[in-house]
Amino acid sequence: MTRLIFLGPPGAGKGTQANLLASTCAIPHISTGDILRSAVAQKTDLGLKAQSYMDQGELVPDQLMLSLICDRLKQSDTKHGWILDGFPRTVAQASFLDELLSEISQRYDFVLNLDVPDEVLIERLLGRGRSDDTEETIRRRLNVYREQTAPLIDFYRARDQLLLIDGNQSVKAVTETLHKLVEI
Ligand code: AMP
Repeated sequence: MTRLIFLGPPGAGKGTQANLLASTCAIPHISTGDILRSAVAQKTDLGLKAQSYMDQGELVPDQLMLSLICDRLKQSDTKHGWILDGFPRTVAQASFLDELLSEISQRYDFVLNLDVPDEVLIERLLGRGRSDDTEETIRRRLNVYREQTAPLIDFYRARDQLLLIDGNQSVKAVTETLHKLVEI
């Protein structure tokens, strides 16, 4: 049973590593960004509400994100573990997650923070070619990360559940580091 939360700025490699680990452990990779992008593509109610925030590199309001994660974590495939990628992104989301997990009798094992210097992040994001990866939106997303998401590092450090990982290595090297840290 493995339950992990990936923190880290956009472009740190959370999605790539979460995906690899999730298939190794045969547990769901829950990416709130992927869920939102699919909602936008399908023009669901959530997608229509979320799109303008995503296009501008802003966070989708907590209220929408809390109901999204609540629905997702209550699905039956989460019983044997999960990897969260892109949630929580605010202290309010992290507090809500604690409450939700205690309500559904689950707890996370580790919070992993992938650390990568800004210039490398910008280079990676520009090379990715996603529709919200323009230079202006990238700058905004990095600021939003610093202002609203980086405080989560202290939030989790205070609980002794934080593992810091150098994300400025090859995909393979980061995967190996992760395997050792979480003993997979
Ligand atoms: P990501 O794929 O994780 O980079 O997310 C892409 C975009 O989806 C972000 O820039 C936000 O607009 C939105 N998003 C994803 N996860 C969250 C979240 N937990 N809270 C608020 N907005 C989010």
